[in-house]
Amino acid sequence: MVRVTRFRFLRQFLVGLVCVVMIAACGGGGDTSTPAGDAAGGGSDRLVVATEPAFPPFEFQAEDGSLAGFDIDLMNAIGEAAGFEVEFQSLPFDGIIPALQSNTVDAAISGMTITAARLETVDFSRPYIAAGLAIAVQESNTDINSIDDLEGKRIAVQIGTTGAETANGIANAQVSTFDSAPLALQELANGNADAVINDAPVTLDAIASGNIPGLKVIGELVTEEYYGIALPKGSPNLERVNSGMATIIENGTYAEIFQTWFGAEPPELPEEAPL
Ligand code: GLN
Repeated sequence: MVRVTRFRFLRQFLVGLVCVVMIAACGGGGDTSTPAGDAAGGGSDRLVVATEPAFPPFEFQAEDGSLAGFDIDLMNAIGEAAGFEVEFQSLPFDGIIPALQSNTVDAAISGMTITAARLETVDFSRPYIAAGLAIAVQESNTDINSIDDLEGKRIAVQIGTTGAETANGIANAQVSTFDSAPLALQELANGNADAVINDAPVTLDAIASGNIPGLKVIGELVTEEYYGIALPKGSPNLERVNSGMATIIENGTYAEIFQTWFGAEPPELPEEAPL
């Protein structure tokens, strides 16, 4: 079995994307005179940003306990460019949207897919990376080769995710939910599930890093998804976040962060996530 590396995944993954607009060309840039809203952490200079830190390489706890990952670096860089400090707050993934709705946090960066359903309750920044769902099975498995083969199977997923939603739509599947993606993958490794539906970059990272042995990803991506930074509906901070993102795309910081975590040039992205 060919070992899937992070780089190989990216090549596969980036080549498959149909992109229309250069991300660098999307930025309006410029300052915004919009004042900050009621930042939960107090004041316009600091935004409390929720994240569920068990989703490497996007967010995870480093050995010293600090937060690390692509999303963490990206959010800090956006804050620096837009003139606000970032205070991360760890929350379970399925608690993030309720926290945004109650204004307990000012924003969230957590590998969160921009979906039509979520847009009814929260706002999203422009897309900051493309991802998509992949199906993982045990390395020895030969009978699951596409999503159609998952009918009636035991599928482990992370609660509240697009992977969970996809699994729930599969006829007769027995779906078990876990608080984090690594726990769902471990269930598969233990033989208590037949498959996991999860974000491809995270599953591939778990396999490539050797954290969860004995698994493979099958076939093609099940979906193509775009991650965005989520904010409470109508948040005055949306423009600041988008403007900070435009700045770091223009000045090369985004590309540097992308290189650090994915070892490649950033791909082109659409200005808006296709829904
Ligand atoms: N991208 C998936 C979603 O938004 C999973 C996110 C996550 O688990 N952090 O539902």
